[in-house]
Amino acid sequence: MLPDSEVLTGWLTREQARFAETHAKSHGLFKDGQAQYPYGAPSHWMRRWAGGFPFYVERAAGSALYCVDGHRYVDFCLGDSGGMCGHGHPAITAALAERLSRGATFMLPTPDAAFVGAELQRRFSLPYWGFTTSASDANRAVIRIARMVTGRRKVLVFNGCYHGSVEEAHVALDGTKVVMRNGIHANAVDHDAVSVVVEFNDLAAVEAALATGDVACVLTEPVMTNYGMIDPEPGFHAGLRALTARYGTLLIIDETHTFSNGPGGYSAVHGLSYDFFVVGKSIGGGVPLGVYGLSADVAAALWSLVPKANPALVRQSAHLGFGGTLAGSALQVAAARVVLEKVLTEEAFAHMLALAGELAEGARRVIREAGLPWYVAHSGARVETMYAPNAPRNASDVAAGRNGLLEALLHVYFLNRGVVITPFHSMMLMCPATCREDIEHYLGVLRQFTAEYLVAGNAQ
Ligand code: PMP
Repeated sequence: MLPDSEVLTGWLTREQARFAETHAKSHGLFKDGQAQYPYGAPSHWMRRWAGGFPFYVERAAGSALYCVDGHRYVDFCLGDSGGMCGHGHPAITAALAERLSRGATFMLPTPDAAFVGAELQRRFSLPYWGFTTSASDANRAVIRIARMVTGRRKVLVFNGCYHGSVEEAHVALDGTKVVMRNGIHANAVDHDAVSVVVEFNDLAAVEAALATGDVACVLTEPVMTNYGMIDPEPGFHAGLRALTARYGTLLIIDETHTFSNGPGGYSAVHGLSYDFFVVGKSIGGGVPLGVYGLSADVAAALWSLVPKANPALVRQSAHLGFGGTLAGSALQVAAARVVLEKVLTEEAFAHMLALAGELAEGARRVIREAGLPWYVAHSGARVETMYAPNAPRNASDVAAGRNGLLEALLHVYFLNRGVVITPFHSMMLMCPATCREDIEHYLGVLRQFTAEYLVAGNAQ
């Protein structure tokens, strides 16, 4: 028998008590933060840890984090991908220190832009690129361009998606109704007017939505990574591309997470085509950065919309209503350069992918030996354990298989044993500094957990 919710609740309480005992300094800092920040810490994401409060980081190096209470952790969260380069990478540290010493932001370009532009073209197969200060902002920019060039309003997203602070995407499916995604704060957007939500892997639903003729763009990750990990079924992306082309809808591929599949992201590995490409977080090596790419056709349509159809006017105009003053700063461009040139290289990805494969295989073995009905998803350098037996096809499958109590328990159990996993679900990411000992450490804790889990179930 597997542990019931009463047993899991008792166990979670004991693990949280242990976490509080061993993280007194962090606990004190978080208590102080209540008087300074609406969510107790500088960002609301920082409070959402299963220990009951976050640990405060003293320093980090490579794949390790060290907290103010003196504990060391293997970091598989990596700032939910922002730290995918590994912490304190010497090449990034040197390049940014050098750039900062010569000035960080001028609203003028620096020569690094040429290298970065060429590298973005080479890796992600689109000709034109723009910088923003986050992936959210890059998504907002391309949605606006899609609306401009199609003259349509609606954005189609998949149930369970997350694309950052993009209001059109803050939606979920409730039966056939579009509702606000659980937990999202109120906004003034009329979602029925601007958002369409369908299940991932459902091409018939995509077609029905696009056939209305009012969808400007589809915004999707190639593999859904923000509600459990959900793989596309064979033929899904080809079908999606064919449908968007048929109905004059533009396709935005957001590879902010799936860049972890290789130097050109998932799209390069699987030969996807698209009108827009977005990537953020890791590409800045710790500097806030998002980039977006435009196809030649989209760029031509954009230029044709400005007076006199003169491309130079777009290139010189100022108040476009998106981006920001710090977008494309010398610091961002220097960061993108060092990340693309020296850190997230072919060799680094080969290492990350091999280790992710080992972690996924090892986790499957542990789960199989324990006879548990759990599933391990794996895509590129990213692995996720899920607590239902089969691969989900869409977010509704994930929701049906979810066990929030078990997930919270696992997170704090791992924290108490020196492993950090992305807090909102159980996703683990490799960085160039991740090593075999990190994988062994994780698998050892997973083995210990599954053994205790079975004992707790049998004893109830
Ligand atoms: N796109 C995807 C796929 C994401 O997962 C996220 C954040 N988790 C974002 C965009 C937004 O990134 P940011 O919060 O850095 O703007």
